[in-house]
Amino acid sequence: MIINSVLIFLIKGCIRFNMLFLILSVYPNPRKAFTVFQQIISLRQSGARNRKVKKFIRQGGKFHQAINLPGWPSSQFNRFIKNEIGRLGNSAYGTNRLQTVFFETTRLCRFNCKHCSIAHINADKSNGTMVMHEDVITKIKDAGIPHIQFTGGEPLEDFDNLVKLIKLTGKMESWVLSSGYELSEERARIIKKSGLTGVNISLDHWDEQEHNKFRGSKEAYSWARKAILNCKQAGLLVSVSLCATKEFTTKENLRKFVKLSQEWGVHFIRVLEPKQAGNFANRNIRLSAKQRLLLEEFYFSDECDKRDKLTPILMYPDLLNREKCCGKGERYIYVDIDGVVHPCPFCFTGTSNILEVDIESICTKLSKEDCINCNVYEGSLN
Ligand code: SF4
Ligand code: SF4
Repeated sequence: MIINSVLIFLIKGCIRFNMLFLILSVYPNPRKAFTVFQQIISLRQSGARNRKVKKFIRQGGKFHQAINLPGWPSSQFNRFIKNEIGRLGNSAYGTNRLQTVFFETTRLCRFNCKHCSIAHINADKSNGTMVMHEDVITKIKDAGIPHIQFTGGEPLEDFDNLVKLIKLTGKMESWVLSSGYELSEERARIIKKSGLTGVNISLDHWDEQEHNKFRGSKEAYSWARKAILNCKQAGLLVSVSLCATKEFTTKENLRKFVKLSQEWGVHFIRVLEPKQAGNFANRNIRLSAKQRLLLEEFYFSDECDKRDKLTPILMYPDLLNREKCCGKGERYIYVDIDGVVHPCPFCFTGTSNILEVDIESICTKLSKEDCINCNVYEGSLN
């Protein structure tokens, strides 16, 4: 259910009160507590360039405003805020800095996407062992990380393993990043029952043929559509992930994409700029300054997140990445099938294994490294 009324004001007030309560339990001095509260609020506001939260998605008794932020109220949301409080210098809540982990559970996949970031490394199509995957989840859980995103390859290719891992995450908020291939209604119900929060389905065009061409499969669009409807039916949150290529990025295409997502009942749209990694390495795929400006204008316009319409919530993480920092090693890491930790899904430069080295040291190292694949360090357009 999409909350799009004046109740939003009330929910925002309750969330802020919850945050203040958590801060006061670390900083009993009200003046100090209020300063920390303002720091956290302004961090969020400056990150989103003051873009207001215009709506929430209500699902399972929680209110969701993004796919990488745990729903409120929940212990995971509180953990998220405690991690931010810890980041600002008080260790009473521990010093964990990570808010989410991408965990690659398989490299198996039947698609051949134009932008695949693991195309250069998935030749052996191998899988790590189940025992090793269980140990990774335990370590992530013990570190107090509130959120996890299962990725691949196609995580559904090893469905039994995926279900076991979702169950292991317990109270963590968990998402599956999938092409939607073979995500039947039965499978959607099984993963929902195992405790999954939502599914992020790749959808790279509103046009069936264009999407199929991009994904290298005649069935891609039809499975993406079926998967979205099946997940909605099963009561999961549904997001679509769009790789906004040079060819795609026009206002008309963006509008048609939002319209289709709305018709299919999608809750969130995540727009990602193409990165020079995997199949796109050394290719001229970066958006022009004009196209990035178009994405920014679209993000700040009223095309999505409308209170009076059932439009999805739009997320454009590359804007924040470009202007602040992408958050590698600070707010997220990418763990591959062998347990090796990398900065993100586009950057396979890691050497440390999560089961052998403590997470804090790995993160410190990653956060200081430069990235060569990404456009996030090219600076703001403003
Ligand atoms: S991008 Fe994902 S779905 Fe596409 S080929 Fe790569 S692993 Fe498969
Ligand atoms: S800068 Fe590096 S870690 Fe950050 S998003 Fe880009 S490739 Fe990934």
